[in-house]
Amino acid sequence: MRLRNIKGSREAVAAGRYTIQEETAKGESFENRHSWSVKGHWNEVFGNDNPVRVEIGMGKGSFLMEMAGRNPGVNYVGIEKYSSVLLRAVQKQEELQLPNVRLIRMEAENINDVFAPEEVDRIYLNFSDPWPKDGHASRRLTSRQFMGRYDNILRKDGMIEFKTDNQELFDFSLEEVDPEKWEITAVTRDLHHDPVLNEGNIMTEYEKRWSEAGKSICAVHLKHLI
Ligand code: SAH
Repeated sequence: MRLRNIKGSREAVAAGRYTIQEETAKGESFENRHSWSVKGHWNEVFGNDNPVRVEIGMGKGSFLMEMAGRNPGVNYVGIEKYSSVLLRAVQKQEELQLPNVRLIRMEAENINDVFAPEEVDRIYLNFSDPWPKDGHASRRLTSRQFMGRYDNILRKDGMIEFKTDNQELFDFSLEEVDPEKWEITAVTRDLHHDPVLNEGNIMTEYEKRWSEAGKSICAVHLKHLI
């Protein structure tokens, strides 16, 4: 995602009615400690017991909002690290006011601070940053380090759905799957010509851009076995 620093975007994101904020815990020994009161309480945030699905690296949020509009019985949480990008999603949500959407500006590395074990039903990873240098492999959102974090918060039989145009990242991601914890239930290297996986597929911003540029899209679904 382009990194343009939009003045005031952090404040605007923080002020959004559908934005979930990190809180700084007060008290001497906790001065610099941060906490998320939503952890373990997402059913209270949404006011229902519907499944919670999370998109990590949501960008401007068109996929998340479209999914949320179509599936009112599912709760959606969008995570994005840059407020300049998330701002667009916040503005869109202020217009749409979808009751089943919440947005968080955060670094996904800390996702275990925000969700309790088994609190998440599904994780969407769409066109995640490739981090092509070997030394940066652990930053890829499908690395074994991130898979370990997802293992902590996904319920049994919960799913991860990953889409990318990047073949190298896709190969790497398949290698990172621990077969004791995850089952690959579907995989394709040409999503838009796969009659089963493409059924009901909602294109993300990057997916539109890269498929229009002639790239084929890879997708994999993983089921959490434990
Ligand atoms: N999912 C969108 C955007 C893809 S670009 C789409 O498919 O159109 C990847 C996005 O993930 C960028 O907006 C980037 O800022 C965000 N991102 C990458 N690494 C992240 C991380 N570690 N934590 C949170 N967001 C991240």
